[in-house]
Amino acid sequence: MDYYALPIANLIEQLSKLPGIGRKTAQRLAFYVLEMESLEADKLANAITNAKEKIRFCSVCCNLTDDDPCYLCKNDSRDKSIICVVEGAKDVIAMERTREYKGLYHILHGVISPMDNVGPNDIKVKELLNRLGDGEVKEIILATNPTVEGEATALYLSKLIKPLGVKVTRIAHGIPVGGDLEYFDEVTLSKAIENRREL
Ligand SMILES: [Zn+2]
Repeated sequence: MDYYALPIANLIEQLSKLPGIGRKTAQRLAFYVLEMESLEADKLANAITNAKEKIRFCSVCCNLTDDDPCYLCKNDSRDKSIICVVEGAKDVIAMERTREYKGLYHILHGVISPMDNVGPNDIKVKELLNRLGDGEVKEIILATNPTVEGEATALYLSKLIKPLGVKVTRIAHGIPVGGDLEYFDEVTLSKAIENRREL
């Protein structure tokens, strides 16, 4: 590439490593940063360093937090008898937005994917099982995504958890609100049929 001064080239290179940021966007962002007030640029750099330093896994649910246990695990009004298992921290935010769910969470930080060399030991499975020993948890909701890996992970977890005497449920997947039947793939449609309920 590079006609850029080394510090600029470095900045472009680092920015282009972010997801969804191509070379052109990285260049645009780099020049934007260079035109920022020094104080603003410092705030951006500090926000990155600070988040990396302070954020860690909740020792209970493995959510990302600066406070351990996290605010969800600490909240006494949450129903401690039910744990919703999700793939990532962003899924917790999505579930919380519904305001429907009042139980606890467990964040796997990934799904089992033999193709990508991700096995059960690479995600937070052991940490989940450790929460089930004392009989307080009565139900596990498996809310991994309806992908091949998400389904396989849910199946794997249900086989581990059921023998412990804990009820295991899977969130229903199917036709989204406002959807049109003719546009859905077979997996979506067959899941919708499979998870039908009586009216
Ligand atoms: Zn937590």
